[in-house]
Amino acid sequence: MDYNRIAELLYPDIVETPEDILNRTPARKLKEGAKVTRLAPSPTGFMHFGTLFPALVNERLAHQSGGVFYLRIEDTDLKREVKGAEDDLINTLSYYNIKFDEGALPDGGDFGEYAPYRQSKRAYIYQVFAKDLVRRGMAYPCFTSADEYEQIKNADVKQILSEKVWTAEDAQKQKEIIKQGRLITEKEVEENLKQGLPFIIRLCSDGDPDKKIRFTDLVRGNLEIPENDEDFVLLKSDGIPTYHFAHAIDDTLMGTTHVVRGEEWLPSLSKHIQLFRYIGAKLPKYLHISQLMKMDGNSKKKLSKRDKGAALSDYKADGYPAESVIEYVMTLLNSNYEDWRRANPDADYTEFPFSVKKMNVSGCLFDYDKLNDVSKNVISRMSAEKVYDEVTRWSCEYDKELFGLVSSNPEYAKKIFSIGRNSKKPRKDFAVWRDVKPYISFFYDDIFEVRDSIPSDFSADDIGTALGTFVNEYDETSDNSEWFEKVKSIADRLGFASDMKIYKQDPGAYKGSVADISMFLRVAVTGRLNSPDLYEVMHILGKDKVISRINSFIDSLKE
Ligand code: GLU
Repeated sequence: MDYNRIAELLYPDIVETPEDILNRTPARKLKEGAKVTRLAPSPTGFMHFGTLFPALVNERLAHQSGGVFYLRIEDTDLKREVKGAEDDLINTLSYYNIKFDEGALPDGGDFGEYAPYRQSKRAYIYQVFAKDLVRRGMAYPCFTSADEYEQIKNADVKQILSEKVWTAEDAQKQKEIIKQGRLITEKEVEENLKQGLPFIIRLCSDGDPDKKIRFTDLVRGNLEIPENDEDFVLLKSDGIPTYHFAHAIDDTLMGTTHVVRGEEWLPSLSKHIQLFRYIGAKLPKYLHISQLMKMDGNSKKKLSKRDKGAALSDYKADGYPAESVIEYVMTLLNSNYEDWRRANPDADYTEFPFSVKKMNVSGCLFDYDKLNDVSKNVISRMSAEKVYDEVTRWSCEYDKELFGLVSSNPEYAKKIFSIGRNSKKPRKDFAVWRDVKPYISFFYDDIFEVRDSIPSDFSADDIGTALGTFVNEYDETSDNSEWFEKVKSIADRLGFASDMKIYKQDPGAYKGSVADISMFLRVAVTGRLNSPDLYEVMHILGKDKVISRINSFIDSLKE
């Protein structure tokens, strides 16, 4: 068999060799221990929450070691490609502050010495490598016969395949049938090409599945996997590579040192090990990371595309700050992250010494309650200024009414957001920006509503008198303790206990306590039984509003 001749017949226009391409590919200048990693998403739909896992692991490994992190778009599956998905991917990653040193840019652009970073633009490179493998007898073309071609054109192939129940024997038989294709002669190749028949390129496998390959995965440890004996496809009939072929070539040319990817690729690993050997390249290190799980009753199940929480866009719409989502992913990725965070409440997550050894092998469990807790902590550590910026940005897109309110008076809004901040134990009122409007509504007359009422154990007279006295004596210049003394004195004057300890000894001797007087004021001013510190609230609202709210409440008592 004249492999050289077959290679020339298949690719007459390709004159370069892999060496030519390797020679013009710049070597990476890396310092000792620096890792080169990549995120290699396929733009086949909305961005899944799970994509953040390899994204962050890759980013941390590269940047923590002073290496390079790049973005490669794996757009080889034209049938499954979704319009707009690629830009959505790039923009979403940037929203989560995942920064690449090189790679694909929005609108089809590229940045970096190893461009193009879209596999659809690298067809020529794959063909150079394919031609070389054919020439060396390590790959061969497989033509679709004229009959099959007609059939495929006319039938719904998916339907035919789905009707067949595939057994292990069928798979073995198919492998053997495929291997007969290795015997194709130059003459047959010439004939088929003349007829214009499409062909694919298959690898000529030398593997024996009874033999095992020893392999060390950086997350999963030592593994033994059977050699690959399948003549799998390298190039499809449109000249576009399969994932396997593109992976081996691109990660070789782009100098990837560590491949972080989902565990669903583990069964294909023996193919990849074989391919790197065939093209004479060094195998990168691999980290196969677990699927994200969720609880389904008492058992764990994969977080699937349709599950709540799967689409990353939902997090933005719900108003989770990007930092919260990243912080949550960090807690899932490394078991010691939360301890570190407690010890370093204000540090950036990038200061955490991320370690592959601390990764969970058995699959992280996605949990909304945990995410909300994490998010509350993250937001509680933000400055009022930052909260204001985030809320305006979010509400501009998702809640125009809220946007109008906060942006009409930024100083006022920032005062509201500063309540209970900057203390040792900051308030944790919001998990998402969607929580903001119901929380701050009483600060704005336009959306103020009286939500709660005063329990019926108090007489309207007492309530009215307490509130009226407060209005008459309210002095905006008093400090927090003077203010509270005033409330206590109103309590004393009306037969309410001003000292809680004494009150608790004999509650029956009083109409109520100072806490009840505060509660009257709170309901009158905020319309709620629960609110942040009332003194602070009154200061932000301003004397006029406080007095007019209390007066209208007194009026409502008379109705
Ligand atoms: N395009 C592949 C995927 O989206 C990439 C896997 C890899 O990182 O190698 O699953």
